[in-house]
Amino acid sequence: MLTTPSKCPTCNYELPAETCIKDANAKPKAGDLSVCLNCGEILVFDPDLKLRMPTISDVMSWDADLFKQVSAAQKLIRQTRPLTQKKL
Ligand SMILES: [Zn+2]
Repeated sequence: MLTTPSKCPTCNYELPAETCIKDANAKPKAGDLSVCLNCGEILVFDPDLKLRMPTISDVMSWDADLFKQVSAAQKLIRQTRPLTQKKL
């Protein structure tokens, strides 16, 4: 585990730790993005590597490719609800 578990500020689901789809040993840094596996909320790591909601400034700083990837992950999670199998 690379970070302390953190609760999603939207649904309160406790995210066990980060998982990078490209590198299992990657360590997140402040400003990196995550997606809640329960509700699909896009989240940002703060300086303490806790997850917070993105600000307008965060969103404006994301490049188009990053936003496209994160949006695709969010859409997939919200369509399939892999953890709850129910609609919120
Ligand atoms: Zn959530």
